[in-house]
Amino acid sequence: GGGKFEMYEHGTAAKTLERILLENELRKSISLGHFNLDYQPKVDLKTGDLMGVEALVRWNHPDLGRIPPDKFIPVAEETKLILPLGEWIIHEACKQARKWQDADFAPVRIAINISAIQLKEPGIVEAIKRILVETGVTSERIEIELTESAFADRSGMQDVIQEIRDLGITIAIDDFGTGYSTFSYIKELPADTLKIDRAFIGDIHENEESRAIVKAILAVAGTVGLRVIAEGIECEEQAAILHEYGCEEGQGYFYSRPTTPDKCVSFMKRVYE
Ligand code: C2E
Ligand code: CA
Ligand code: CA
Ligand code: CA
Repeated sequence: GGGKFEMYEHGTAAKTLERILLENELRKSISLGHFNLDYQPKVDLKTGDLMGVEALVRWNHPDLGRIPPDKFIPVAEETKLILPLGEWIIHEACKQARKWQDADFAPVRIAINISAIQLKEPGIVEAIKRILVETGVTSERIEIELTESAFADRSGMQDVIQEIRDLGITIAIDDFGTGYSTFSYIKELPADTLKIDRAFIGDIHENEESRAIVKAILAVAGTVGLRVIAEGIECEEQAAILHEYGCEEGQGYFYSRPTTPDKCVSFMKRVYE
């Protein structure tokens, strides 16, 4: 009917407008450097030791305020602005890793989120290599988080991922369980870590199905030799169940929100003392 069509039209126009606005503002902000990285600790569930951090991009727009990545990363991907932004993110995270390397902190890995679009860009491996050289960071301090779609997209992608691994960078499969990987297919993937999506962690203490899924993921990962990290741990109960199930590593607001590098350092000290 006419009314419905009109509503659809309005919705679409508003969406397009917002997208164009975001695209323009993104472009400006990339050249003006209105971004920073926050870092979220990843901890050993048994000892509480800091194992690494995940770098998460933050857009600080002078007028619009903080725009969450779930809102602008998809636009950056559609417009390919993720390429310059993504390169800045890798560079910035490696610079931070180098600082911690110089401060003689134990190799606390910085995990960098890389979008499938970035991975498909010819020259991505060369770009990563160049950034490692420029920043002087050792590759053992860097991890890359990729969602399942990055692995499944084209068979050629797996070769690219393997080339990155050959540099000594570890690879994590992000948001695991929400995509379409079948268990039999995991063992073929060039990855080191499975990151269980927070959808299964948020209700693990009150949902039998989530517990069953997490148990199954841990069992399969153990069989094929992948490390497992659980994301989105918000309370002690969830942490305790995961530890009981043999999950080694966790991340979430229960331990720390994404924060400044300095706060991560105080987290390291708290853990080490
Ligand atoms: P992600 O890679 O799955 O990142 C985890 C998200 O979960 C982060 O949201 C983090 O702040 C949030 N989180 C961490 N612990 C908890 C918790 O205990 N409870 C809940 N409810 N949430 C938690 P954020 O920073 O808003 O990022 C959202 C998504 O945006 C990321 O999901 C990732 O897909 C994308 N993103 C963020 N930074 C980057 C980046 O540098 N590059 C790319 N390509 N994508 C990024
Ligand atoms: Ca991630
Ligand atoms: Ca994730
Ligand atoms: Ca996600």
